Amino acid sequence: DEDLGILDAATDDSDAITYLPALPVLAIVGRPNVGKSALVNRILGRREAVVQDTPGVTRDRVNYKAEWNERRFTIVDTGGWEPDAKGINASVAAQAEIAIDLADAVLFVVDAMVGPTSTDEHVVRMLRSTKKPVILVANKVDDARQEPEAASLWSLGLGQPWAVSAVHGRGVADLLDHVLTVLPEVSAVAKDQVGGPRRVALLGRPNVGKSSLLNRSAGEERVVVNELAGTTRDPVDEQIELGGKVWTFVDTAGIRRRMHLAQGADFYASLRTSAALEKAEVAVVLIDVTEPISEQDVRIIELVLESGRALVLAFNKWDLLDDERRRYLEREIEQDLGHVSWAPRVNISAKTGRHLEKLVPALELALQSWDTRIPTGKFNALLAELTAEHPHPVRGGKQPRILFGTQASSRPPTFVLFTTGFLDPQYRRFITRRLRELYGFEGSPINVNMRVRE
Ligand code: GDP
Repeated sequence: DEDLGILDAATDDSDAITYLPALPVLAIVGRPNVGKSALVNRILGRREAVVQDTPGVTRDRVNYKAEWNERRFTIVDTGGWEPDAKGINASVAAQAEIAIDLADAVLFVVDAMVGPTSTDEHVVRMLRSTKKPVILVANKVDDARQEPEAASLWSLGLGQPWAVSAVHGRGVADLLDHVLTVLPEVSAVAKDQVGGPRRVALLGRPNVGKSSLLNRSAGEERVVVNELAGTTRDPVDEQIELGGKVWTFVDTAGIRRRMHLAQGADFYASLRTSAALEKAEVAVVLIDVTEPISEQDVRIIELVLESGRALVLAFNKWDLLDDERRRYLEREIEQDLGHVSWAPRVNISAKTGRHLEKLVPALELALQSWDTRIPTGKFNALLAELTAEHPHPVRGGKQPRILFGTQASSRPPTFVLFTTGFLDPQYRRFITRRLRELYGFEGSPINVNMRVRE
């Protein structure tokens, strides 16, 4: 995390607030072995999306920042789960569903050497019904002699098949040129980045009470906002009025529609979580207080941290909590959630409505922290004070010094320190801790990066 490419794009010295627009999202869908990972690697120009040879093994990352001709976009690789032959249809259907819900455009990859299989045709039917642009990629066209195989894919009714060889790079530049013509400049799925209702992702493992909370909120206070000035709604999102304000709850379709997958259900749940986080500004992670805090809960919080979104923790089913369980719960929170002790916490009951009104102030606090910008002058005065009071220890006869610091961006607050040498991790944690003591940043992750000046 030493490198911070966005620094140059951010305002260095002015205190004006500038927000980067939401990047458009391109989702990649296809059967196992058609070459999705190879294509992602090729587009990224690096080996980041490791090609997975072991069937059944899932990749961790699904979102990648890509760039072509100076346009930046996010790639969502939906294909990390390798099902057995029986599960393929369900798995590729799940990919397509997530892609259609959560992307601006879909790349559908077919193996031109195999031709369309019944699984492919199944997905084609789903893709034809979406209004979002779908680009058909005929992969494994390694040389010109194989072009006719690609051309035969016109029959799928998804328009022109783009013949590429992900492994050799053939045709990929043309494909990407075309991708840029269909991708919007600014994401339509996440487009209200500036102004408009703030976007909330409601997360949590199955049965924690997500749909109950959604129904309760929507039922009591719903406003049917058809066209709020300047916003277009994605049909998978819902606008709900809470505490006198309209909020966009993203990917409510994913909550209302339950996927029935025997295998890979966890994988698709976390894929959906990651993709929904791309659209959201703040996440409410629901935790069921009647059950021990699980690895899955921690994993969901981890995805929020990775995404850099603001975080609110909602402890649900509080109406079912007894004294004994409560003692255990407090201990579990300390042990398993100590690293996010900065997140506002609300104890609610989606069923009885208990303390639901506390959710809004928590969301507002978290978003305010997420938006915070500390002027460069103030930040440097603070750094001078900290380093005077607590200098960096001498390492190998040298003492790394902080020359200058700036907040490179907000959402979440990201600081860069220009130094004469590497700072100890403890020292960086000390600075992070002091920043939190002074500014709070409740509900927002913060990053402190460094750049070593030789
Ligand atoms: P989801 O899978 O996260 O959407 O969870 P649901 O909203 O479907 O809830 C799962 C079950 O928990 C349902 O039977 C709900 O009635 C129940 N439930 C949800 N919230 C609460 C709560 O606050 N208190 C109680 N007692 N039950 C709840």
